[in-house]
Amino acid sequence: MKVLAHGGVGSPRENDDGVKDAVNKGISGKTEALDIVIGVVRELEDDPIFNAGTGSRVRIDGSIQMDAAVMFDGEIGAVSAIERVKNPVSVAKEVYDSPFVMLTGADCTQFARDLGYEDYDPLTKKRKEELEEMNEKLKGTDGPERLKKVREFYEQVDGGDTVGCVAEVYGEYAAAVSTGGTSYCMRGRVGDSPLIGCGFYAGKKGAVVTTGKGEEIIKRMSAKRCYDLIPEHGLKEACEMTIAEYPNEISIGVIAVNGSGIASADNREMARFGIER
Ligand code: ASP
Repeated sequence: MKVLAHGGVGSPRENDDGVKDAVNKGISGKTEALDIVIGVVRELEDDPIFNAGTGSRVRIDGSIQMDAAVMFDGEIGAVSAIERVKNPVSVAKEVYDSPFVMLTGADCTQFARDLGYEDYDPLTKKRKEELEEMNEKLKGTDGPERLKKVREFYEQVDGGDTVGCVAEVYGEYAAAVSTGGTSYCMRGRVGDSPLIGCGFYAGKKGAVVTTGKGEEIIKRMSAKRCYDLIPEHGLKEACEMTIAEYPNEISIGVIAVNGSGIASADNREMARFGIER
């Protein structure tokens, strides 16, 4: 069994302990790669220091919209802009079990409710304070002027505490990711995290999860890019090469697993924890 989880690029290494706890609790009693990554990401979603589930970042309008995805053996389940559920990654698993690949927005939230997921407010005191700060900076603006300001602040956003996990068990690979997005993002904005090949990828050769500036990751499809580099360059080099495709002012982190082990690369601090046994 090999497991590697991260607490987001830009998340200080002192948060490694939180990731470690999540890994130890999340793998407990699990024997399959998919159950392991979901178990670990659920724990990370429940820890308010990370930007996923409880503790998700707030959009500029004050709402919380979350993205999550799971992938195992070529099968995918993803949710985007889901609201008011405790564990978006579990809803992504419900989509995985459905005939569909991704559900989005209010319909996705309704899908969760229909399956018994209760109304849950993931807002924490810290995120409320961040909202107040954003409101202060955007005060009195609307229309194109507001959008211009949002762009200005969004460009300064660096790192986001999103969570992700990759795992291998008996040569099978899984990936899971969950996020509340970034600060200064608009309602309806979807980042890389729930998009296949951008925020995650898992296939016969391994599994990869990314974290960082979602728009830039989408443009480079970095999870699939890293995955494709693994056979020729090896795990660590594939991660380094993926990171090298970004200018330093854009935060980016990647974690990966294959038959030979676990590896990561980043251009900021990135809390993480892994086990190989
Ligand atoms: N990639 C995430 C997003 O853009 C943020 C992060 O990784 O921190 O939504």
